[in-house]
Amino acid sequence: MQINVAQLLKEPVGAKRSYKIDESAGENAENHVTGEIDLIRTNRGVLVMGTLATEITGPCARCLGPAHIPVTFSMEDEYFPITDVNSGLPIDISPDEFRINEAHVLDLNEALRQYIIMATPTKILCRPDCRGLCPVCGKELAKGDCGHMDKTQDHRWDKLVQNKKESKV
Ligand SMILES: [Zn+2]
Ligand SMILES: [Zn+2]
Repeated sequence: MQINVAQLLKEPVGAKRSYKIDESAGENAENHVTGEIDLIRTNRGVLVMGTLATEITGPCARCLGPAHIPVTFSMEDEYFPITDVNSGLPIDISPDEFRINEAHVLDLNEALRQYIIMATPTKILCRPDCRGLCPVCGKELAKGDCGHMDKTQDHRWDKLVQNKKESKV
C-alpha cells in the first residue's frame, strides 16, 4: 500500500488522516490484510498507527493439510521524508528509518511484510487439536482409524516409561 502524504506533510503537527486497508501484502503478496490505520503528522515526519488483521496460510505442521490461522497485529512506525515538502531540499535521515520518498509517497509494504512475519506462529496447525498423521501408514488420523492406533499408543507409553526412568535418576 502506497499513500501520498504531500498534503499531510504541509499540515501542522497532530494533523490526522485515516485509511482503510484491504489488500494483499506480505512476502509474496499472499496475505490479505484488512483494517484501519491513522497517519498523524509529527514534527519530523508521519506516524502510522493501526490494528490490522490477516490470515496466515500454510501446510499444517502435523497433518500437512491446509491451515488458515487468523492473526491481528498492531503497527506503530514513524516515517521520515527524504525531501522537504515545502523547499524541495533533501533531508538526511538514518538508513534504518522508514522513509517517505522524494515524491512524498509513504510505502507500507516493507513494514507490513515484517509485521506479518512476526505474527506468523512458528508452528502452524489446521486446528489446535489436529491429531496429525499415523506414524505407520501416514493416514490422516482425523479421517478414521487405520488400525495402527495401538502402536501409536505404545509409543506414547514408551515415552511415559522413559520419563519415569529419567525422573528416578
Ligand atoms: Zn492438521
Ligand atoms: Zn496407520
